[in-house]
Amino acid sequence: MPEGHTIHRLAARHREMFAGGTVEAVSPQGRFADGAALIDGRVMVDATAYGKHLLHRYDGEQTVHVHLGLYGRFTDGDGLPPAPVGEVRLRLVNGKHWLDLRGPAVCEVLDPPGVGALVGRLGPDPLRDDADPDRAFRRISRSTKPIAALLLDQSVVAGAGLIFVTETLYRAGIPPTLPGRALGEARWRELWVDLRELMREGVRSGRIDTVRPEHTPEAMGRPPRVDRHGGEVYVYRRAGQPCLVCGTSVSHGTLAGRNAYWCATCQDCR
Ligand SMILES: [Zn+2]
Repeated sequence: MPEGHTIHRLAARHREMFAGGTVEAVSPQGRFADGAALIDGRVMVDATAYGKHLLHRYDGEQTVHVHLGLYGRFTDGDGLPPAPVGEVRLRLVNGKHWLDLRGPAVCEVLDPPGVGALVGRLGPDPLRDDADPDRAFRRISRSTKPIAALLLDQSVVAGAGLIFVTETLYRAGIPPTLPGRALGEARWRELWVDLRELMREGVRSGRIDTVRPEHTPEAMGRPPRVDRHGGEVYVYRRAGQPCLVCGTSVSHGTLAGRNAYWCATCQDCR
């Protein structure tokens, strides 16, 4: 599933292509015909992201809410759109650009209370300037759940997925199993700042690189990582391989139903 930086990149791209002008909206597949009719001919005011949720805001207080889930994806292009191929849930066209959405987990039109309810369910998003990390810490500091599970819970922190969470914990030297209430505020601050910086870099580059300059393939004289996720990381999906810092074999387990990767030597803060 795409992490928050991907959704923020999409929001910026859609804003660039469509905001400020009238948009034609259709649902070639038909499943979003009623929703498309509500926004067809309206002006897209803005496109924003909140965690992994994309919001296209239109005049008339209509907002299209998209959550890509595992299979959703956007394609776009300039000029006139090609004949729809496959199950296109939503197509936007403005004469200069077109945008197709296929296979989202959620594609719906929300009114302002609906947007408020959605955002109210989400924790602070490190990529948003209005994010309040104290709100997340109040949840974390009261919980006995493992810190990795808390950071992946979108109602605690919105937008960070498994790669960012895994890697931020490694960089902080914190084991993923540490109970939230044992974290402490100072370490939370460090985690939040690091998460925000890594995710901002992800928005800029479109990939997830989490290794410090001294641990890049060039600096270490090692081959670049080969993985469909791309990016240079310390422990994510590196089970059994040597830790880039200490050489210990990277551990792998499951935590709250999700994969967990860590270095038992570097992430030991008892
Ligand atoms: Zn290590």
